Amino acid sequence: MTKTAIIAGGSIAGLATARALSPCFERVILLEADSFDQTGFARKGTPQANHVHGLLKGGCDALTRLFPDLPARLTAAGAVSCHFSSEVRWYINEDWMPRYDGSMQIYFQTRPLLEGCLREAVREIANVEIVENCRVEDFVLDEARKRIIAAVVRRPGADVETISADFFIDAMGRGSFLPRWLKREGFGEVPEDHIGVNLGYASCLMELPTEPRDWKSILIYPKGPKEIRGATLVKVENDKWLLTLAGYHNDHPPADAEGFLEFARTLPRPDIYDAVRNARIVSDIRLHKFPHGQWRHYDEIASFPLGILPVGDTNTSLNPLFGQGMSVAALSAAALSDLASETDFSHPVSLARLKRNYFTGLRRVFATPWDLALGQDFRYAETTGRKPFTLVPKNALKSLIMSSSSTEVIENFYHVVHLAREESSFYHPRWLVKILKGMKNR
Ligand SMILES: Cc1cc2nc3c(=O)[nH]c(=O)nc-3n(C[C@H](O)[C@H](O)[C@H](O)COP(=O)(O)OP(=O)(O)OC[C@H]3O[C@@H](n4cnc5c(N)ncnc54)[C@H](O)[C@@H]3O)c2cc1C
Repeated sequence: MTKTAIIAGGSIAGLATARALSPCFERVILLEADSFDQTGFARKGTPQANHVHGLLKGGCDALTRLFPDLPARLTAAGAVSCHFSSEVRWYINEDWMPRYDGSMQIYFQTRPLLEGCLREAVREIANVEIVENCRVEDFVLDEARKRIIAAVVRRPGADVETISADFFIDAMGRGSFLPRWLKREGFGEVPEDHIGVNLGYASCLMELPTEPRDWKSILIYPKGPKEIRGATLVKVENDKWLLTLAGYHNDHPPADAEGFLEFARTLPRPDIYDAVRNARIVSDIRLHKFPHGQWRHYDEIASFPLGILPVGDTNTSLNPLFGQGMSVAALSAAALSDLASETDFSHPVSLARLKRNYFTGLRRVFATPWDLALGQDFRYAETTGRKPFTLVPKNALKSLIMSSSSTEVIENFYHVVHLAREESSFYHPRWLVKILKGMKNR
Protein backbone atom coordinates (compact mmCIF):
# COMPACT_ATOMS: atom_id res chain seq x y z
CA MET A 1 0.00 0.00 0.00
CA THR A 2 1.34 3.49 -0.82
CA LYS A 3 1.86 5.85 2.01
CA THR A 4 0.16 9.22 1.94
CA ALA A 5 -2.61 11.04 0.07
CA ILE A 6 -3.30 14.73 0.62
CA ILE A 7 -6.72 16.22 -0.04
CA ALA A 8 -6.89 20.00 -0.36
CA GLY A 9 -10.34 21.21 0.74
CA GLY A 10 -12.52 19.66 3.44
CA SER A 11 -16.04 20.18 2.17
CA ILE A 12 -18.39 17.71 0.43
CA ALA A 13 -15.94 16.65 -2.30
CA GLY A 14 -12.97 16.52 0.07
CA LEU A 15 -14.79 14.47 2.70
CA ALA A 16 -16.25 12.02 0.17
CA THR A 17 -12.85 11.60 -1.47
CA ALA A 18 -11.14 11.03 1.89
CA ARG A 19 -13.46 8.08 2.36
CA ALA A 20 -12.90 6.87 -1.21
CA LEU A 21 -9.10 6.90 -0.89
CA SER A 22 -8.78 5.67 2.68
CA PRO A 23 -8.57 1.93 1.78
CA CYS A 24 -5.72 2.65 -0.69
CA PHE A 25 -3.32 4.63 1.54
CA GLU A 26 -1.69 4.22 4.91
CA ARG A 27 -2.55 7.83 5.66
CA VAL A 28 -4.99 10.34 4.16
CA ILE A 29 -4.54 13.96 5.25
CA LEU A 30 -7.35 16.38 4.57
CA LEU A 31 -6.24 20.03 4.66
CA GLU A 32 -8.98 22.62 5.11
CA ALA A 33 -8.41 26.38 5.13
CA ASP A 34 -11.36 27.05 7.46
CA SER A 35 -11.94 26.26 11.08
CA PHE A 36 -15.02 24.06 11.56
CA ASP A 37 -16.25 25.59 14.77
CA GLN A 38 -17.11 29.00 13.33
CA THR A 39 -20.28 30.42 14.71
CA GLY A 40 -22.98 31.42 12.24
CA PHE A 41 -24.65 29.23 9.71
CA ALA A 42 -22.19 28.85 6.84
CA ARG A 43 -18.43 28.91 7.33
CA LYS A 44 -16.25 31.39 5.44
CA GLY A 45 -15.06 28.95 2.76
CA THR A 46 -18.59 27.80 1.85
CA PRO A 47 -20.84 30.90 1.87
CA GLN A 48 -23.32 29.05 -0.35
CA ALA A 49 -24.17 26.83 2.63
CA ASN A 50 -26.63 29.48 3.87
CA HIS A 51 -28.99 28.51 1.08
CA VAL A 52 -31.19 25.50 0.39
CA HIS A 53 -28.95 22.53 -0.42
CA GLY A 54 -31.02 19.66 -1.75
CA LEU A 55 -29.24 16.32 -1.79
CA LEU A 56 -30.57 14.48 -4.83
CA LYS A 57 -31.33 10.78 -4.70
CA GLY A 58 -28.37 9.93 -6.97
CA GLY A 59 -26.02 11.94 -4.76
CA CYS A 60 -27.41 10.42 -1.57
CA ASP A 61 -27.00 6.93 -3.02
CA ALA A 62 -23.39 7.68 -4.01
CA LEU A 63 -22.60 9.05 -0.55
CA THR A 64 -24.30 6.05 1.03
CA ARG A 65 -22.08 3.72 -1.00
CA LEU A 66 -19.12 5.49 0.58
CA PHE A 67 -20.69 5.93 4.03
CA PRO A 68 -23.24 3.12 4.51
CA ASP A 69 -24.48 4.61 7.79
CA LEU A 70 -25.14 8.07 6.34
CA PRO A 71 -28.96 7.71 6.32
CA ALA A 72 -28.86 6.70 10.00
CA ARG A 73 -26.56 9.62 10.82
CA LEU A 74 -28.78 12.09 8.97
CA THR A 75 -31.89 10.78 10.72
CA ALA A 76 -30.23 10.90 14.14
CA ALA A 77 -29.13 14.49 13.48
CA GLY A 78 -32.71 15.52 12.68
CA ALA A 79 -32.81 15.43 8.87
CA VAL A 80 -36.33 15.18 7.47
CA SER A 81 -37.14 12.05 5.48
CA CYS A 82 -39.31 12.78 2.46
CA HIS A 83 -41.04 10.82 -0.29
CA PHE A 84 -40.30 12.93 -3.31
CA SER A 85 -43.31 12.16 -5.49
CA SER A 86 -45.92 12.52 -2.75
CA GLU A 87 -44.49 15.06 -0.28
CA VAL A 88 -42.90 17.59 -2.63
CA ARG A 89 -45.08 20.01 -4.53
CA TRP A 90 -43.16 20.87 -7.68
CA TYR A 91 -44.17 23.59 -10.12
CA ILE A 92 -42.15 23.28 -13.34
CA ASN A 93 -42.83 23.72 -17.05
CA GLU A 94 -45.71 26.09 -16.08
CA ASP A 95 -47.63 23.34 -14.28
CA TRP A 96 -47.63 21.31 -11.07
CA MET A 97 -46.15 17.83 -11.31
CA PRO A 98 -48.59 15.06 -10.30
CA ARG A 99 -48.31 13.70 -6.76
CA TYR A 100 -48.41 9.95 -6.27
CA ASP A 101 -46.92 7.22 -4.08
CA GLY A 102 -43.57 6.60 -5.71
CA SER A 103 -40.38 4.86 -4.68
CA MET A 104 -38.01 7.77 -4.22
CA GLN A 105 -37.08 8.65 -0.67
CA ILE A 106 -34.71 11.55 0.06
CA TYR A 107 -33.57 13.64 3.04
CA PHE A 108 -33.94 17.33 3.70
CA GLN A 109 -31.49 19.14 5.94
CA THR A 110 -29.38 22.24 5.98
CA ARG A 111 -26.04 22.05 4.27
CA PRO A 112 -24.09 22.47 7.56
CA LEU A 113 -25.94 19.45 8.99
CA LEU A 114 -25.06 17.27 6.00
CA GLU A 115 -21.44 18.37 6.05
CA GLY A 116 -21.30 17.82 9.82
CA CYS A 117 -22.54 14.22 9.41
CA LEU A 118 -19.96 13.51 6.70
CA ARG A 119 -17.19 15.07 8.79
CA GLU A 120 -18.19 13.00 11.80
CA ALA A 121 -18.06 9.84 9.66
CA VAL A 122 -14.64 10.75 8.23
CA ARG A 123 -13.28 11.50 11.71
CA GLU A 124 -14.06 7.89 12.60
CA ILE A 125 -11.83 6.51 9.83
CA ALA A 126 -8.64 5.56 11.63
CA ASN A 127 -6.17 6.51 8.87
CA VAL A 128 -7.73 9.86 7.94
CA GLU A 129 -6.58 13.04 9.62
CA ILE A 130 -8.48 16.32 9.23
CA VAL A 131 -6.32 19.42 9.61
CA GLU A 132 -8.24 22.69 10.01
CA ASN A 133 -6.91 26.22 9.50
CA CYS A 134 -4.47 24.95 6.91
CA ARG A 135 -4.46 26.68 3.54
CA VAL A 136 -2.85 24.93 0.60
CA GLU A 137 -1.01 27.59 -1.36
CA ASP A 138 1.05 25.77 -3.95
CA PHE A 139 1.95 22.41 -5.42
CA VAL A 140 5.49 21.19 -6.13
CA LEU A 141 6.47 19.16 -9.22
CA ASP A 142 9.11 16.45 -9.47
CA GLU A 143 12.30 17.10 -11.42
CA ALA A 144 10.81 15.79 -14.64
CA ARG A 145 7.89 18.23 -14.14
CA LYS A 146 5.42 15.40 -14.74
CA ARG A 147 4.14 14.58 -11.29
CA ILE A 148 3.07 16.54 -8.22
CA ILE A 149 5.06 15.47 -5.19
CA ALA A 150 4.30 18.04 -2.47
CA ALA A 151 1.91 20.75 -1.30
CA VAL A 152 2.94 24.04 0.22
CA VAL A 153 0.68 24.99 3.13
CA ARG A 154 0.23 27.90 5.49
CA ARG A 155 -1.21 27.78 9.02
CA PRO A 156 -1.95 30.82 11.16
CA GLY A 157 1.12 31.98 13.06
CA ALA A 158 3.42 29.36 11.51
CA ASP A 159 5.99 29.36 8.74
CA VAL A 160 5.03 28.10 5.31
CA GLU A 161 5.53 24.34 5.21
CA THR A 162 6.05 21.83 2.37
CA ILE A 163 4.35 18.46 2.83
CA SER A 164 5.30 15.55 0.56
CA ALA A 165 2.79 12.86 -0.41
CA ASP A 166 2.22 10.14 -2.99
CA PHE A 167 -1.06 11.50 -4.31
CA PHE A 168 -3.09 14.73 -4.19
CA ILE A 169 -6.72 15.72 -4.63
CA ASP A 170 -7.90 19.22 -5.47
CA ALA A 171 -11.23 19.62 -3.65
CA MET A 172 -10.86 23.40 -3.18
CA GLY A 173 -14.12 24.18 -4.95
CA ARG A 174 -14.94 26.74 -7.59
CA GLY A 175 -12.21 29.13 -6.40
CA SER A 176 -9.42 26.51 -6.61
CA PHE A 177 -6.01 27.88 -7.63
CA LEU A 178 -5.33 24.78 -9.77
CA PRO A 179 -6.15 26.47 -13.13
CA ARG A 180 -3.80 29.40 -12.32
CA TRP A 181 -1.15 26.96 -11.10
CA LEU A 182 -1.35 24.86 -14.30
CA LYS A 183 -0.92 28.00 -16.40
CA ARG A 184 1.98 29.27 -14.30
CA GLU A 185 3.78 25.93 -14.53
CA GLY A 186 3.47 25.82 -18.31
CA PHE A 187 0.69 23.23 -18.67
CA GLY A 188 -1.48 25.76 -20.49
CA GLU A 189 -4.83 27.41 -19.97
CA VAL A 190 -7.65 25.14 -18.79
CA PRO A 191 -10.46 25.34 -21.39
CA GLU A 192 -13.65 26.47 -19.62
CA ASP A 193 -17.29 26.60 -20.60
CA HIS A 194 -19.16 29.46 -18.96
CA ILE A 195 -22.94 29.75 -18.93
CA GLY A 196 -23.87 33.27 -17.85
CA VAL A 197 -27.09 33.29 -15.82
CA ASN A 198 -26.54 36.17 -13.34
CA LEU A 199 -28.54 34.46 -10.68
CA GLY A 200 -29.22 36.07 -7.29
CA TYR A 201 -30.17 34.08 -4.18
CA ALA A 202 -31.68 35.17 -0.86
CA SER A 203 -32.44 32.72 1.96
CA CYS A 204 -33.52 32.56 5.57
CA LEU A 205 -34.71 30.11 8.17
CA MET A 206 -38.34 30.35 9.22
CA GLU A 207 -40.85 28.96 11.67
CA LEU A 208 -44.16 28.29 9.98
CA PRO A 209 -47.50 28.46 11.81
CA THR A 210 -48.54 25.06 13.15
CA GLU A 211 -51.14 23.63 10.80
CA PRO A 212 -51.69 20.32 9.01
CA ARG A 213 -49.68 19.98 5.79
CA ASP A 214 -49.43 17.05 3.42
CA TRP A 215 -46.13 18.29 1.97
CA LYS A 216 -42.58 18.94 3.15
CA SER A 217 -41.38 21.13 0.33
CA ILE A 218 -42.63 23.41 -2.41
CA LEU A 219 -40.42 23.99 -5.45
CA ILE A 220 -41.23 26.73 -7.91
CA TYR A 221 -39.03 26.48 -11.00
CA PRO A 222 -39.29 29.36 -13.46
CA LYS A 223 -39.71 28.58 -17.15
CA GLY A 224 -38.05 31.17 -19.30
CA PRO A 225 -38.40 33.51 -20.92
CA LYS A 226 -41.66 34.49 -19.18
CA GLU A 227 -40.89 33.36 -15.63
CA ILE A 228 -37.61 34.54 -14.13
CA ARG A 229 -38.20 34.10 -10.40
CA GLY A 230 -38.06 30.79 -8.58
CA ALA A 231 -38.03 29.51 -5.01
CA THR A 232 -37.63 26.49 -2.78
CA LEU A 233 -39.27 26.09 0.59
CA VAL A 234 -38.12 23.05 2.47
CA LYS A 235 -38.59 21.57 5.91
CA VAL A 236 -35.25 21.06 7.65
CA GLU A 237 -34.03 19.96 11.08
CA ASN A 238 -35.33 21.40 14.37
CA ASP A 239 -38.80 22.11 12.96
CA LYS A 240 -37.45 24.97 10.87
CA TRP A 241 -38.08 25.76 7.24
CA LEU A 242 -35.50 27.12 4.84
CA LEU A 243 -36.75 29.44 2.13
CA THR A 244 -34.54 30.33 -0.81
CA LEU A 245 -35.72 32.86 -3.39
CA ALA A 246 -33.85 33.25 -6.65
CA GLY A 247 -33.99 35.35 -9.78
CA TYR A 248 -32.27 35.00 -13.15
CA HIS A 249 -30.45 37.75 -15.02
CA ASN A 250 -30.15 40.39 -12.31
CA ASP A 251 -33.74 40.15 -11.07
CA HIS A 252 -32.44 39.42 -7.57
CA PRO A 253 -34.30 39.07 -4.26
CA PRO A 254 -33.32 41.58 -1.56
CA ALA A 255 -32.13 41.05 2.03
CA ASP A 256 -34.78 43.12 3.85
CA ALA A 257 -37.77 41.19 5.22
CA GLU A 258 -40.38 43.31 3.48
CA GLY A 259 -38.69 43.15 0.07
CA PHE A 260 -37.98 39.44 0.55
CA LEU A 261 -41.66 38.66 1.15
CA GLU A 262 -42.71 40.92 -1.69
CA PHE A 263 -40.39 38.95 -3.99
CA ALA A 264 -42.05 35.72 -2.74
CA ARG A 265 -45.46 37.24 -3.50
CA THR A 266 -44.51 37.78 -7.12
CA LEU A 267 -43.32 34.23 -7.83
CA PRO A 268 -45.02 32.49 -10.79
CA ARG A 269 -47.39 30.78 -8.30
CA PRO A 270 -48.66 32.10 -4.92
CA ASP A 271 -48.27 28.84 -2.97
CA ILE A 272 -44.95 29.61 -1.28
CA TYR A 273 -46.04 33.12 -0.38
CA ASP A 274 -49.28 31.76 1.07
CA ALA A 275 -47.30 29.26 3.15
CA VAL A 276 -44.84 31.82 4.57
CA ARG A 277 -46.75 35.11 4.75
CA ASN A 278 -47.41 34.54 8.49
CA ALA A 279 -44.11 32.80 9.23
CA ARG A 280 -41.50 34.05 11.68
CA ILE A 281 -38.11 34.73 10.12
CA VAL A 282 -35.54 33.35 12.57
CA SER A 283 -32.22 34.10 10.82
CA ASP A 284 -30.66 36.86 8.80
CA ILE A 285 -31.68 36.96 5.17
CA ARG A 286 -28.47 36.04 3.38
CA LEU A 287 -27.61 36.78 -0.23
CA HIS A 288 -25.50 34.99 -2.81
CA LYS A 289 -24.68 35.90 -6.40
CA PHE A 290 -23.97 33.25 -8.99
CA PRO A 291 -22.78 34.88 -12.23
CA HIS A 292 -22.20 31.77 -14.31
CA GLY A 293 -22.12 28.01 -14.33
CA GLN A 294 -18.77 26.61 -15.39
CA TRP A 295 -17.14 23.42 -16.61
CA ARG A 296 -13.37 23.26 -16.48
CA HIS A 297 -12.06 20.76 -19.02
CA TYR A 298 -8.95 19.66 -17.15
CA ASP A 299 -9.07 16.52 -19.29
CA GLU A 300 -8.25 18.59 -22.38
CA ILE A 301 -4.80 19.46 -21.02
CA ALA A 302 -2.82 16.71 -22.70
CA SER A 303 0.09 16.88 -20.24
CA PHE A 304 -2.07 17.29 -17.10
CA PRO A 305 0.37 16.27 -14.35
CA LEU A 306 0.26 12.88 -12.69
CA GLY A 307 -0.33 12.55 -8.98
CA ILE A 308 -3.31 14.90 -8.70
CA LEU A 309 -6.99 14.73 -9.59
CA PRO A 310 -9.72 17.37 -9.25
CA VAL A 311 -13.02 16.46 -7.53
CA GLY A 312 -16.17 18.56 -7.04
CA ASP A 313 -16.77 22.20 -7.90
CA THR A 314 -13.20 22.69 -9.11
CA ASN A 315 -14.40 20.75 -12.19
CA THR A 316 -17.96 21.90 -12.66
CA SER A 317 -19.97 24.48 -10.82
CA LEU A 318 -23.55 24.13 -11.96
CA ASN A 319 -26.50 26.52 -11.80
CA PRO A 320 -27.57 25.90 -8.19
CA LEU A 321 -31.28 26.13 -8.98
CA PHE A 322 -31.16 22.48 -10.01
CA GLY A 323 -29.53 21.31 -6.77
CA GLN A 324 -26.92 19.12 -8.44
CA GLY A 325 -23.47 20.24 -7.24
CA MET A 326 -23.08 18.11 -4.11
CA SER A 327 -24.49 15.06 -5.90
CA VAL A 328 -22.07 15.52 -8.78
CA ALA A 329 -19.21 15.74 -6.25
CA ALA A 330 -20.46 12.56 -4.55
CA LEU A 331 -20.82 10.67 -7.86
CA SER A 332 -17.30 11.76 -8.87
CA ALA A 333 -15.84 10.56 -5.55
CA ALA A 334 -17.69 7.24 -5.90
CA ALA A 335 -16.29 6.81 -9.43
CA LEU A 336 -12.80 7.57 -8.10
CA SER A 337 -13.28 5.03 -5.33
CA ASP A 338 -13.80 2.23 -7.87
CA LEU A 339 -10.78 3.24 -9.95
CA ALA A 340 -8.49 3.88 -6.98
CA SER A 341 -8.90 0.32 -5.75
CA GLU A 342 -7.32 -0.93 -9.03
CA THR A 343 -4.46 1.60 -9.03
CA ASP A 344 -0.83 1.20 -8.05
CA PHE A 345 -0.17 4.75 -6.85
CA SER A 346 3.59 4.22 -6.86
CA HIS A 347 3.67 3.45 -10.58
CA PRO A 348 3.47 6.19 -13.24
CA VAL A 349 1.82 3.92 -15.81
CA SER A 350 -0.90 3.00 -13.35
CA LEU A 351 -1.33 6.67 -12.39
CA ALA A 352 -1.66 7.65 -16.05
CA ARG A 353 -4.36 4.99 -16.49
CA LEU A 354 -6.18 6.27 -13.42
CA LYS A 355 -6.08 9.84 -14.79
CA ARG A 356 -7.43 8.75 -18.17
CA ASN A 357 -10.21 6.58 -16.78
CA TYR A 358 -11.22 9.10 -14.13
CA PHE A 359 -11.53 11.94 -16.67
CA THR A 360 -13.55 9.67 -18.97
CA GLY A 361 -15.82 8.79 -16.03
CA LEU A 362 -16.23 12.47 -15.12
CA ARG A 363 -17.46 13.36 -18.60
CA ARG A 364 -20.19 10.78 -18.08
CA VAL A 365 -21.04 12.05 -14.58
CA PHE A 366 -21.30 15.68 -15.81
CA ALA A 367 -23.24 15.06 -19.04
CA THR A 368 -26.73 14.73 -17.52
CA PRO A 369 -26.64 17.57 -14.96
CA TRP A 370 -24.96 19.96 -17.40
CA ASP A 371 -27.50 19.24 -20.12
CA LEU A 372 -30.49 19.50 -17.78
CA ALA A 373 -29.32 22.86 -16.43
CA LEU A 374 -28.57 24.27 -19.87
CA GLY A 375 -31.98 23.22 -21.13
CA GLN A 376 -33.57 25.63 -18.63
CA ASP A 377 -30.85 28.34 -18.67
CA PHE A 378 -31.00 28.87 -22.42
CA ARG A 379 -34.72 29.59 -22.34
CA TYR A 380 -33.55 33.15 -21.59
CA ALA A 381 -32.15 35.26 -24.44
CA GLU A 382 -29.76 36.92 -21.94
CA THR A 383 -28.02 33.62 -21.09
CA THR A 384 -24.51 33.55 -22.52
CA GLY A 385 -22.27 30.62 -23.43
CA ARG A 386 -22.02 27.69 -25.78
CA LYS A 387 -25.54 26.53 -26.62
CA PRO A 388 -25.85 22.81 -27.44
CA PHE A 389 -27.41 22.28 -30.88
CA THR A 390 -29.64 19.55 -29.40
CA LEU A 391 -31.28 22.00 -27.01
CA VAL A 392 -34.57 22.57 -28.82
CA PRO A 393 -35.51 18.90 -29.49
CA LYS A 394 -34.39 17.87 -26.01
CA ASN A 395 -36.46 20.62 -24.38
CA ALA A 396 -39.46 19.60 -26.47
CA LEU A 397 -39.08 15.98 -25.34
CA LYS A 398 -38.68 17.03 -21.68
CA SER A 399 -41.86 19.12 -21.94
CA LEU A 400 -43.71 16.02 -23.18
CA ILE A 401 -42.28 13.98 -20.32
CA MET A 402 -43.20 16.52 -17.66
CA SER A 403 -46.78 16.70 -18.90
CA SER A 404 -47.12 12.95 -19.35
CA SER A 405 -50.09 11.14 -17.87
CA SER A 406 -47.91 8.08 -17.21
CA THR A 407 -46.61 7.72 -13.65
CA GLU A 408 -43.91 5.43 -14.97
CA VAL A 409 -42.62 8.14 -17.30
CA ILE A 410 -42.71 10.73 -14.51
CA GLU A 411 -40.89 8.37 -12.15
CA ASN A 412 -38.13 7.87 -14.75
CA PHE A 413 -37.93 11.65 -15.17
CA TYR A 414 -37.50 12.02 -11.39
CA HIS A 415 -34.69 9.46 -11.43
CA VAL A 416 -32.95 11.40 -14.20
CA VAL A 417 -33.29 14.83 -12.55
CA HIS A 418 -32.10 13.22 -9.30
CA LEU A 419 -29.02 11.95 -11.18
CA ALA A 420 -29.91 8.37 -10.31
CA ARG A 421 -30.20 7.58 -14.05
CA GLU A 422 -28.56 9.12 -17.09
CA GLU A 423 -30.48 11.52 -19.31
CA SER A 424 -29.80 9.21 -22.24
CA SER A 425 -32.43 6.86 -20.77
CA PHE A 426 -35.05 9.32 -22.14
CA TYR A 427 -33.91 8.49 -25.66
CA HIS A 428 -34.14 4.74 -25.33
CA PRO A 429 -36.88 3.45 -27.70
CA ARG A 430 -38.58 1.75 -24.73
CA TRP A 431 -39.05 5.12 -23.05
CA LEU A 432 -39.86 7.02 -26.25
CA VAL A 433 -42.81 4.70 -26.82
CA LYS A 434 -44.03 5.19 -23.24
CA ILE A 435 -43.57 8.98 -23.52
CA LEU A 436 -45.62 9.08 -26.73
CA LYS A 437 -48.34 6.90 -25.18
CA GLY A 438 -48.55 9.19 -22.14
CA MET A 439 -49.00 12.29 -24.33
CA LYS A 440 -52.23 13.78 -23.15
CA ASN A 441 -52.93 16.84 -21.10
CA ARG A 442 -53.29 16.26 -17.41
C1 LIG B 1 -26.29 29.50 -3.79
C2 LIG B 1 -25.95 28.06 -4.00
C3 LIG B 1 -26.89 27.07 -3.75
C4 LIG B 1 -26.58 25.73 -3.98
N1 LIG B 1 -27.54 24.78 -3.78
C5 LIG B 1 -27.21 23.48 -3.99
C6 LIG B 1 -28.19 22.46 -3.79
O1 LIG B 1 -29.36 22.70 -3.51
N2 LIG B 1 -27.78 21.16 -3.95
C7 LIG B 1 -26.50 20.84 -4.33
O2 LIG B 1 -26.19 19.65 -4.46
N3 LIG B 1 -25.60 21.79 -4.56
C8 LIG B 1 -25.91 23.09 -4.40
N4 LIG B 1 -24.97 24.05 -4.63
C9 LIG B 1 -23.64 23.62 -5.09
C10 LIG B 1 -22.79 23.14 -3.94
O3 LIG B 1 -22.67 24.14 -2.97
C11 LIG B 1 -21.42 22.73 -4.47
O4 LIG B 1 -21.56 21.96 -5.62
C12 LIG B 1 -20.65 21.91 -3.44
O5 LIG B 1 -20.44 22.65 -2.29
C13 LIG B 1 -19.32 21.46 -4.03
O6 LIG B 1 -18.53 20.91 -3.03
P1 LIG B 1 -16.95 21.05 -3.08
O7 LIG B 1 -16.46 20.28 -1.90
O8 LIG B 1 -16.46 20.70 -4.42
O9 LIG B 1 -16.65 22.60 -2.92
P2 LIG B 1 -16.99 23.59 -1.73
O10 LIG B 1 -18.15 23.13 -0.99
O11 LIG B 1 -17.01 24.96 -2.31
O12 LIG B 1 -15.74 23.46 -0.75
C14 LIG B 1 -14.42 23.84 -1.03
C15 LIG B 1 -13.65 23.69 0.26
O13 LIG B 1 -12.28 23.94 0.02
C16 LIG B 1 -11.78 24.82 1.04
N5 LIG B 1 -10.65 25.52 0.45
C17 LIG B 1 -10.68 26.43 -0.55
N6 LIG B 1 -9.44 26.82 -0.87
C18 LIG B 1 -8.61 26.12 -0.06
C19 LIG B 1 -7.19 26.07 0.08
N7 LIG B 1 -6.40 26.83 -0.69
N8 LIG B 1 -6.67 25.24 1.00
C20 LIG B 1 -7.46 24.45 1.79
N9 LIG B 1 -8.80 24.47 1.70
C21 LIG B 1 -9.37 25.28 0.77
C22 LIG B 1 -12.97 25.70 1.36
O14 LIG B 1 -12.82 26.33 2.63
C23 LIG B 1 -14.09 24.69 1.33
O15 LIG B 1 -14.23 24.03 2.55
C24 LIG B 1 -25.28 25.39 -4.44
C25 LIG B 1 -24.34 26.38 -4.70
C26 LIG B 1 -24.69 27.70 -4.52
C27 LIG B 1 -23.67 28.76 -4.87
